[in-house]
Amino acid sequence: MVFENISRNLNAVCDILELGQLERKLLLDFKRIKKEILKVDGKSYEAFRILHNDSLGPGKGGIRFHPNVCEDEVKSLSFWMSIKNSLAGLPYGGAKGGVKINPKDMQPGQLEKVSRAYVRAFHEVLGEDIDVPAPDVYTNAQVMGWMLDEYEKIQGGHRPGMITGKPLSLGGLEFRKTSTSKGGYIVFKELLSKLGKKKATVAVQGFGNAGYNFAKFADKGGFTVVAVSDSGGAIYDKTGLDIDKVKKTKENKRSVTDYDAKKITNEELLELKVDFLVLAAMENQITRQNAKRVKASHIIELANGPVTSEADQILHEKRIKVVPDILANAGGVIGSYFEWVQNKTGNIFEEDYLEKRLENMMKENFKKVYDLHTRKNIDMRTAAYVLAVQRILDAERARGNL
Ligand code: NAD
Repeated sequence: MVFENISRNLNAVCDILELGQLERKLLLDFKRIKKEILKVDGKSYEAFRILHNDSLGPGKGGIRFHPNVCEDEVKSLSFWMSIKNSLAGLPYGGAKGGVKINPKDMQPGQLEKVSRAYVRAFHEVLGEDIDVPAPDVYTNAQVMGWMLDEYEKIQGGHRPGMITGKPLSLGGLEFRKTSTSKGGYIVFKELLSKLGKKKATVAVQGFGNAGYNFAKFADKGGFTVVAVSDSGGAIYDKTGLDIDKVKKTKENKRSVTDYDAKKITNEELLELKVDFLVLAAMENQITRQNAKRVKASHIIELANGPVTSEADQILHEKRIKVVPDILANAGGVIGSYFEWVQNKTGNIFEEDYLEKRLENMMKENFKKVYDLHTRKNIDMRTAAYVLAVQRILDAERARGNL
């Protein structure tokens, strides 16, 4: 994700909203860019925490450990978190962090040292009411646990709301594990009801946390999941796959392709004639090269950025509707919000209550985006951006900043 592209996309949204220079400048500004060098075991690592906007609430966004981390990427991701959190209706701004490091090259124990060094370098700009990190690429619940522990040592007290995605024993939330796929499934059903359809065929790319759980919900909900894939390849059964059995096979063997069904390639899965193609693997999967061959009627982006902007254009021309990532996978950040609320208030919410809250929030967000998309005849991604930008600007206006 390059910030220059973001500025270009944002300008198109600003044109629709007929915004002036002041608003445009404010949206492209960053409230805080903090860079540090982490020194661990004689090695130095570049590290970042960037807050794009906090007019709606404290910054919220993950920390990634990856060799490609750079300022431009972290800026882009923090901007993108502002948009996603705003659209989701959460009391959060957007932020992101990262360390330029390859976790695969690290010795045991080093990951913990880097995680603690990160907090020592950035603790002043983190906090439950300042900026709240979460896991991202190559960081996980254990990394969040070390970070919380280091933060609490510095603060001299318990502060579980300073970070989400924690181990359950430190205030993490079981519900968060499936909240992304659950949210995506709610949006899928809302779209079906708009289309007046009760049945649908579905192909799911990616069989990890997001993809497997989505496929399971769809299968249990009576929809026909005809194909799934993982990095080892894809399988197809036009009568529908038994997702529980596919999962067991993957656990016992290696890949979904060890399941007894017709093998197809990962590329073929993306080009199947299905009602819904659910992208739950990685970014940049539908591109200028393969977009023309996509035959699904609808795409749901559970992954972040799986459709490139060039592909978006082609799909739009082919009248293939794309439910954008910032809407479809917002169940993830909504789940993190529930964890944060629990930690801040000391409450322990019942699962049924969280289920209902997630359902209502996803339905409401979908309705807003879908209505604007049909009313203004714009694609759902643009509609989502318009709504998100408006909410940020409303908060800035209410603060007297515009
Ligand atoms: P994961 O690592 O659990 O699963 C990823 C799956 O994709 C694996 O099964 C892997 O084998 C498969 N895969 C990788 N390359 C593939 C390819 N070329 N073709 C087919 N399958 C391939 O990851 P996840 O947590 O499920 O996340 C998936 C995507 O969803 C990511 O983009 C992530 O950023 C996004 N996302 C996840 C969450 C969440 O809560 N898990 C929240 C928001 C967004």
